[in-house]
Amino acid sequence: MTGAGSERTAPLVEVFRSYQGEGIHVGRRQIFVRFFGCHRNCVYCDTPESVTARNPQGAPASCRVENQPGSNQFQEIPNPVRMERLLSVIDELQIVETAPCEIALTGGEPLLHVPFLETLLPEFRCRGWRSYLETTGDLPGRIQPLISNLDVVAADLKLPSATGERERWEKHAAFFRECREGNVSFFVKVVVSSRTSNEEIRHAAAVIADVSPTVPLVLQPLTAAPGAGSSPAPAQLIAWLDQASRVLTDVRIIPQCHAATGNR
Ligand code: SF4
Repeated sequence: MTGAGSERTAPLVEVFRSYQGEGIHVGRRQIFVRFFGCHRNCVYCDTPESVTARNPQGAPASCRVENQPGSNQFQEIPNPVRMERLLSVIDELQIVETAPCEIALTGGEPLLHVPFLETLLPEFRCRGWRSYLETTGDLPGRIQPLISNLDVVAADLKLPSATGERERWEKHAAFFRECREGNVSFFVKVVVSSRTSNEEIRHAAAVIADVSPTVPLVLQPLTAAPGAGSSPAPAQLIAWLDQASRVLTDVRIIPQCHAATGNR
């Protein structure tokens, strides 16, 4: 097991090609690069192999790379993965197409690897590839050196009722402000459960509206997970949609759509 990374290497869990399963860009073809390491430990986490608290020994000795999309057959490459190796893996996974290759940087938390991303993202730009960052949205200060080379930021706003962790409203607010000031396309996703309160939705919507009322907000019903509560009732979801729409212009309910391929 290894957890080290640098400007030229990063600990990765897996690389595969599939489609985006969450948020306002759901259904887009993407190549996923899943980083090891996360400072959070959400009770509903569906990628526990990426979470630092659940893997105290560090990243796995190798990163798995899916040979064919949806095949569930993998080759292993040693960790930490060198940037040049990752670029060639992505090159092999993309197919000839008119649309540019889009790479989802996910985890874990990719922003724990800023020096590596500072080196990697300009390489994506050189190749005409698009970058889509999935982040917990609570690490202000880390996105600034990357923002000019990012195409989309999908930022979470974590509610204590869903994650089982303490609130970080101010960190989220600062992060969203940095996205806004950096002029990157971004939206906010909030996982909601049967335990979520009206006050949490009111507070979340207010935090986002304070940055800009036009930032899209996605309410994502919790996918059932042991110990994490259940998905909210439909009437409750619609009530929250209405509530958030009082201060935001683009609020949507979008469930997770990974199930069709089994990818997360
Ligand atoms: S932020 Fe994401 S990767 Fe980290 S523990 Fe929560 S769900 Fe898992």
